[in-house]
Amino acid sequence: MWSDLAAVGRDRSLGGYSRHVFDDADLQLREWFTEQAQRRGLEVETDRNANIWAWWGGPGPGAVVTGSHLDSVPGGGAFDGPLGVVSALLAVDELRVRGVQPSRPIAIVCFAEEEGGRFGLPCLGSRLLTGAADPDVVRRLHDPDGTSVADAARRAGFDPGGLGPDPQRLALIGAFVELHIEQGRLLTAADPTAMVGVGAQIVAHGRWRITVAGEGNHAGTTLPVDRHDPMIPAAAAVLAARRVLSLHSGAVATVGRLRPVPGGTNVIASSVDTWLDVRHGTAADTAAVVDEIVAMVREEAELEGCTVTLHRESLTEQVDFDLALSMQLSELLQVPMVPTGAGHDAGILAGSVPAAMLFVRNPSGVSHAPGEHAETADCEAGVQALADVLATLAA
Ligand SMILES: [Zn+2]
Repeated sequence: MWSDLAAVGRDRSLGGYSRHVFDDADLQLREWFTEQAQRRGLEVETDRNANIWAWWGGPGPGAVVTGSHLDSVPGGGAFDGPLGVVSALLAVDELRVRGVQPSRPIAIVCFAEEEGGRFGLPCLGSRLLTGAADPDVVRRLHDPDGTSVADAARRAGFDPGGLGPDPQRLALIGAFVELHIEQGRLLTAADPTAMVGVGAQIVAHGRWRITVAGEGNHAGTTLPVDRHDPMIPAAAAVLAARRVLSLHSGAVATVGRLRPVPGGTNVIASSVDTWLDVRHGTAADTAAVVDEIVAMVREEAELEGCTVTLHRESLTEQVDFDLALSMQLSELLQVPMVPTGAGHDAGILAGSVPAAMLFVRNPSGVSHAPGEHAETADCEAGVQALADVLATLAA
């Protein structure tokens, strides 16, 4: 089944995969999932927020829900997201082989645009479902080509008018367990023999856009004293993001994207957009780290005669998964609990329903890049663990 996905959404320029909500790769993967679910006799439906649900036993209260997402970051790996969906389908197969007759409904869900790779807001589908994102704001978000969520949805055959909270659906969920490739090496550090772990919490994380405006000019003829080059304060943002790591233990800050305007080799830019990703403790801890970085950028901007504007694109509070559920899974599977610095749909759902996560180890620690990898034996252990969990929770 893994090989079905290998060709879909390959990114020839970045390597790996680029799969974003409502693009061709996303629509192909949705079709693939629907066919796989129907082949297993599951009842497939798409909710008002473009999340797909496949039900074993039909929708009903107390449902045990698993699943993940099919989209990727630009140039992402093969496992982040699809591993949780494929494992969920295989766990259903495994339960049937074991002759398990669940007394509660089981559902597999594929959440839309978890990575925020197209419209900038991560966990779009789960945020809309739970009411954590305002549908009016979401409809107006646009991708780098200027296409809005509303237009992209319409073109792909979804009604953007229906986006928004879905309390009836949430009320059906008794527990949500997302299986995911680990995106660091904490599991292996906690127990070198553990192939699978249980998520403890997700630290707060946010995305900011820092725009530095200066004065566009000729790269060859502009005297040093006449230069108001916004790239200099933008570079300070990059360096400050690294510097704060040594000032705050456990904090991470990254500039992964810069956009100079107009972007010519022989042109001093007139402005530079710099995107900053910060994750640290609580939301207040994270915002404090951003303030420190921006202070360093402003200092440099003043010397250069540039102006700085800051725009917060998202900020998600630290999430503790359901402790009782997580401990139950950790005991059932006899595996350790580990925290993570990565955001997940399970983290959004944790605010509304008992939610937990299973991680499949990734000793390379590489994620959001083409080199992301999990061994087949570890993925199979993940399927067995997920089947154990579903059998126990749906019994
Ligand atoms: Zn993911």
